[in-house]
Amino acid sequence: MKNIPLAIDVVEAKTSNIDSVDFDNLVFGNVFADHMMECDYYDGQWQNPTIKPYGPIQLDPSAKVFHYGQAIFEGMKAFKDDDDQLWLFRPVANIERFNKSSQRLAIPEFPQDLFLEGLETLLNLDRDWVKKGFGNSLYIRPFVIATEKGVSASPSKSYKFMIICSPAKSYYSGEVRVFFADKFSRAADGGVGYAKAAGNYGAQFYPTNLAKEEGYQQIVWTDANSHEYLEEAGTMNIFFRVGDKLITAPTSDRILDGVTRKSVLSLAEDLGIETEVRRIKVAEIVEAAEKGELKEIFGSGTAATINPVRGFGNKGKKYELPQLEDSYAALLKQKLMEIQYNKAEDKFGWRY
Ligand code: PMP
Repeated sequence: MKNIPLAIDVVEAKTSNIDSVDFDNLVFGNVFADHMMECDYYDGQWQNPTIKPYGPIQLDPSAKVFHYGQAIFEGMKAFKDDDDQLWLFRPVANIERFNKSSQRLAIPEFPQDLFLEGLETLLNLDRDWVKKGFGNSLYIRPFVIATEKGVSASPSKSYKFMIICSPAKSYYSGEVRVFFADKFSRAADGGVGYAKAAGNYGAQFYPTNLAKEEGYQQIVWTDANSHEYLEEAGTMNIFFRVGDKLITAPTSDRILDGVTRKSVLSLAEDLGIETEVRRIKVAEIVEAAEKGELKEIFGSGTAATINPVRGFGNKGKKYELPQLEDSYAALLKQKLMEIQYNKAEDKFGWRY
């Protein structure tokens, strides 16, 4: 990658849409802040980025993103504290993962300093879209798509990088019950599971729809070889509390290296909760549930922070989890949010 200094062009929106938004009744990811960042890649390099009013983009129908799914994205959040300061949570981890995803999809990496500078400029323009208060945030969606014309199956020579932002309310996704995958797979060894490749998500819709018909909201994916080991959910890493121990699967080339996952592990260890990162057998969790030793399951991810799971289904059998007073999910969520909203000491250096 050439290191050329790029200047960000800023075109401010003449009017704001903010007054048309009902911030008390936001549906996740449905409305967007006034501005977006856009940067094109051609002639072997990223060109000057622009920040401009949010709006449609024009692409050739033969653009490679439509035919070969050469597209990756990220998900992160900005938070506002009581003094109106904006905070990002471990943004460099997201940028590094963004570029890891790009590499796997043969997309040119995006310069980290330009990403951060652009994001800061964008957030300062749209800072009114970040509401104060625990649970309120601005969800940030950076992505890259392949824009070159032509239906030959080869990597694009041109790309578009964008960042769009969507205000989000404390995300309570209702009662979540999960289904342990026993037929379909999300990722394979040597595949793209660790990347936030757009196609990883589209491929989950059909099996997830089937699970929904059976009363489950999400699938916990198992390893593609044997379906014997629990890996992660569709957009969350997954934790199991057996007795007082917190267990999660190790990341691999099949599992996304979740920023929330690694933060939860650090927080749990700091709180004196025993953690184990190791492969987890479906049979072990079923047995623990039958013996009453399985106390909690929860998912971790940027959108929901920590999402408790009420029950699970495995091979036609349904299991319910107890409702705990001293839930790890609730404690860890509280601790994480206190750091995100600048209400607690940032001893890990996560706030930016
Ligand atoms: N797994 C998958 C497949 C995801 O899409 C996400 C959301 N990025 C996660 C886990 C959670 O990752 P993070 O905590 O970084 O949001």
